[in-house]
Amino acid sequence: MEIVFAELSRLYNKYKDEYEETVLDVLRSGWYILGKKLAQFEKQFATYMESKHCIGVGNGLDALRLALSALDINTGDEVIVQANTFIATALAVTQNGAIPIFVDVDEYFGINPESVKRAITHKTKAIIVVHLYGQSCDMDAIMDIAKAHNLKIIEDCAQSHGALYKGKKLGTFGDVACFSFYPMKPLGVFGDGGAVVTNDDYLEKKIRLLHNYGSVIKYQHEVLGINSRLDEIQAAIGSINLKYLDHGNLERNNIAQKYKDGINNPKIVLPKIRKDVYNVYHIFPILCVDRDDLLHYLKSHGIQTQIHYPIPCHLSECYSNLGYKKGQIQYAELYADNELSLPIYVGLKDEEIEYIIKILNSFK
Ligand SMILES: *Cc1c(COP(=O)(O)O)cnc(C)c1O
Repeated sequence: MEIVFAELSRLYNKYKDEYEETVLDVLRSGWYILGKKLAQFEKQFATYMESKHCIGVGNGLDALRLALSALDINTGDEVIVQANTFIATALAVTQNGAIPIFVDVDEYFGINPESVKRAITHKTKAIIVVHLYGQSCDMDAIMDIAKAHNLKIIEDCAQSHGALYKGKKLGTFGDVACFSFYPMKPLGVFGDGGAVVTNDDYLEKKIRLLHNYGSVIKYQHEVLGINSRLDEIQAAIGSINLKYLDHGNLERNNIAQKYKDGINNPKIVLPKIRKDVYNVYHIFPILCVDRDDLLHYLKSHGIQTQIHYPIPCHLSECYSNLGYKKGQIQYAELYADNELSLPIYVGLKDEEIEYIIKILNSFK
């Protein structure tokens, strides 16, 4: 059996008619940027997020860049970031001229509140929490720290669309939440896309200015903006995928349950899940000390896996100037060495899940 890590055509085929109808609709409308489809999607996603505002942007990295920029985070400011995340989280900080301060994570892969406390200085302006793999960070502890030290909280929700902490949507705890709609994300589009969600009227206005050349009235440029917009075709696709987001999250939860029930190889450690959360399992991460052998064993049996992420941000070449050393951030480095992500996506079949479990259990 051949099982790829992510087969997006399964999602496409499931709702094919709806996608094709809406894309044709946009093509025939003659209006492709900042139009009705985007306005509709922004309204729908804000409603889904139980938040006041949603601004569609070009991608997840831009969502983070714009959020930091709207919060006036710039040269010399420090922003605390967990070391094991996709590089975009850190790049957004650097691209605003600020300095990412990398800290460790806890046993649930989320930012470690104790590490955050130790990293706070008089230059610290904000903390970016990443709800990695679709599971919430320890939001009670993080919000307490933010209040005590008067820090802004940016939630990187690029992997956690629809996930909950104590029954409340992730992305509604901090000052601002940033989403990616990269095709593989829990809510994806068929190209690049992203959004910023906030309850803050000032931040909404500022991000609307910044993402469209610093302009609300055409050719009147109030601030130095960028061009980062969710186009009409992607917004229309987003509206369809938003309708099926909860369904997809449930489907991945069911696959995760099958993995948890079926995997019984003592060499494999299953992911720890917090109480009081709804995890949307963007990724199903397992841990294994012989991770590279396991990866090749699965590959030799036709099963594709991935590593999220093989090099933590603080050891990435692009941040070598910051002077971090191997051994400095314990758990982030341990996960980089031991983590392996199993296939988990809409349309993954029962016989494929059973086959993956069988092969995992036969690894010695
Ligand atoms: C995907 C991702 C991003 C970046 O999103 P893009 O749309 O690819 O720019 C940022 N942060 C995290 C945690 C991600 O997984």
